[in-house]
Amino acid sequence: MDAILDGLNDAQREAVTSSASVLQVLAPPGSGKTKTLTARVAYLVGHHQLKPWNIIVCTFTVKAAREMKDRIKALIGEQVAKKLELGTFHSIALRYLKQYGQHIGISKDFGIADSSDTKAILKKSIAKIGATMQPGSAQGRISSLKCKGIDCDAFARSAKNVESQEFLQIYRSYEATLLASNLLDYDDLLLRCRFLMQSHPQCVSNVQAVLIDEFQDTNCVQYDLMRLFAQHCNAITIVGDPDQSIYGWRSAEIKNLATMKQQWPDTLTINLKDNYRSSGAILHAAQKLIEQDEGRPPKKLQATHSIGSRPVLRKLPSANAEAEWLVSEIKRTQAVTGGLLKENDFAVLLRSATLSRAIESALGKAGVPYRMLCGTRFYDRAEVKVLIDYLRVINHAGNDEVIERVINVPTRKIGDKTVAALNQEAQLKGVSLWRMILDVVQGRCRSEFKLAEPALKGLASFVDVVLTGQRKVTSLESEKSSLLALLETVIKKLNFQSYLKEKYAEDHEIRWANVEELMAQTGDFEEKENLQDMAEDALPAIDGLDQREISSDDALQLFLANVALTASLEKKADDDGESVQQITISTMHAAKGLEWPVVFIPACYDGSIPHSRAEDNDEERRLLYVGMTRAQVLLYLSCPIKNTQREETCMSTFLTQPGIECFFEEHGPMVSNASVNALAKTLRRDAPAPKTISEKRRELDQEEDNYWPLNGDMPAAEEARWDYSRDKSLPGFGTANRSLSTFG
Ligand code: ATP
Ligand code: MG
Repeated sequence: MDAILDGLNDAQREAVTSSASVLQVLAPPGSGKTKTLTARVAYLVGHHQLKPWNIIVCTFTVKAAREMKDRIKALIGEQVAKKLELGTFHSIALRYLKQYGQHIGISKDFGIADSSDTKAILKKSIAKIGATMQPGSAQGRISSLKCKGIDCDAFARSAKNVESQEFLQIYRSYEATLLASNLLDYDDLLLRCRFLMQSHPQCVSNVQAVLIDEFQDTNCVQYDLMRLFAQHCNAITIVGDPDQSIYGWRSAEIKNLATMKQQWPDTLTINLKDNYRSSGAILHAAQKLIEQDEGRPPKKLQATHSIGSRPVLRKLPSANAEAEWLVSEIKRTQAVTGGLLKENDFAVLLRSATLSRAIESALGKAGVPYRMLCGTRFYDRAEVKVLIDYLRVINHAGNDEVIERVINVPTRKIGDKTVAALNQEAQLKGVSLWRMILDVVQGRCRSEFKLAEPALKGLASFVDVVLTGQRKVTSLESEKSSLLALLETVIKKLNFQSYLKEKYAEDHEIRWANVEELMAQTGDFEEKENLQDMAEDALPAIDGLDQREISSDDALQLFLANVALTASLEKKADDDGESVQQITISTMHAAKGLEWPVVFIPACYDGSIPHSRAEDNDEERRLLYVGMTRAQVLLYLSCPIKNTQREETCMSTFLTQPGIECFFEEHGPMVSNASVNALAKTLRRDAPAPKTISEKRRELDQEEDNYWPLNGDMPAAEEARWDYSRDKSLPGFGTANRSLSTFG
């Protein structure tokens, strides 16, 4: 028990051990909300003897779910931790639908329509209706309606004008296609799960506690899910921070905090105050930023670390120059801290993924490895997506969109016209595209329906790949053959390596490496999610409610669901705690809840942040606040004078408000032995052996940065002089910063 409470402050302990059945922990970034939530889960298991499989823990991202599981493992052991019902709202909803979906008419083999599928379906729906809407905006609008729980019928009641009537037709046609193809989109997972919980409340009769991280970003459907998960036990703990609410554009409802209090008037609220993440100077700057929101109730960020180095706010001539500066700063801080900072300690946080190009290219040129938490997902890379799509057709041939994407990859002489003819004929017969293709290949077609010989051959070869795959799947159980073997069969049947060589003469090796990575992941998935685990992970049996059994032929389906719900490639090494050293590039949205010793936020100009298309400037400011408060020790903000389109920029209005400039400085931080020691202490690592003055001088002589304060002209060889601080007093911070020694 002590281990669970060890290292918590009083307020955190109070929250962990509280006997309140409904509890809100509201606190600023870095104050240990997630740590507290994790400890409370462990406490409920360890102290209150709750069964882990009766506890539901929801996080917002797959990465956050993993990190939380790791933290809980450390407290109560892996065997117990892995039995928790812990994941994103989507993954938990998926699990309920898989096991109980038959009670609301969802068949076992439903597929998940990913973003490209839904876009393709919408494109067709729009064309069918003769509307002019962009598929992307229809997609956004439908998703936003679904997040608010508004289905076609509910929308129809408010659709009065011509435009809404037209959109209603698109919405209905989209829904009809999903239904006919036995597909659910991401929002459906939550909506259907909500319906399941409402209509069959007994499926959560076992649940003893529900815990939610990042509650400020729940939308109304997620709020309902929380309430319904807890409908028998009424035991809910949420942690959150209204200042970090950044998903209003996705219908998150900050008022859920108040709704919760109305619904459960006995809700206990505990506030945590101390920040354990960031240095004082970073917190002061973040505080100054968030205070610009006049509607916000005054709250102070309380540092527990020393003042440290002021965040840098730097102007660079262009986006490329900004990227190069960023890379040189990474290298410089690594060099002067004697290898204390590894690549994993750095993150570059962006307002939007599209800004990553210049940064990726500069990192690539300098040979600095990086991983993307945003941007093109690993599973969306062309060569990976094709293979995943084949697996999806093998698993669920009812998804016409996927078939259309891969039917002619590699080239099989099946042109658009053939596909259109097949689609038309399929519609006439009222069958799926796959059924139609099978009929053609197996000679069960009307004699009037004719295709050219090469196209027929092409179709036969496509059918051969899919049927061979399907046979392999049915043998997954009997022959103990594996997912990996299935993937290898597909790769071989497609002659995929030669195809890549032919199609991508320039970079086929990198692409093949991605295929190898995919193979490694399938192998990995099986290892982790082996049959026994899957059976163990199943939801507990409920009296009087039929439950589907998870069996080995679900392996493929679970793998694909995992792919659909995973935001990015997270290499095996991450799970194993191996140190693959890579810099993280992420959007600020995807970075919430996470932390890094060094954080860069480039492209801080108006139009980027606040974003030109954003409707709510306060939310944009909160987003920058979330970004800044990810940093533990060093924070760099920057702005190119000209953006990637070579247009002149204006520094973000958030960073030009009167008085804010004194919280930043323009140049990189100075580093001394003492400050490296302080940094090591903050990061709880061993400090490198102190360098001799001549070593440092050599290092500095190699530095090209002219702002490095000691460049060239080395003062007398004494540590004290080396360790000088520029001692710029910050207004209002008393004397704390007078002895500021950069990091320490
Ligand atoms: P965010 O709002 O950004 O999600 P948070 O409130 O969830 O932040 P955590 O991620 O739980 O904060 O904690 C931030 C950091 O502070 C973590 O590294 C955590 O280990 C550390 N921390 C939290 N509480 C304590 C404590 N009592 N003593 C020492 N370190 C702590
Ligand atoms: Mg957190």
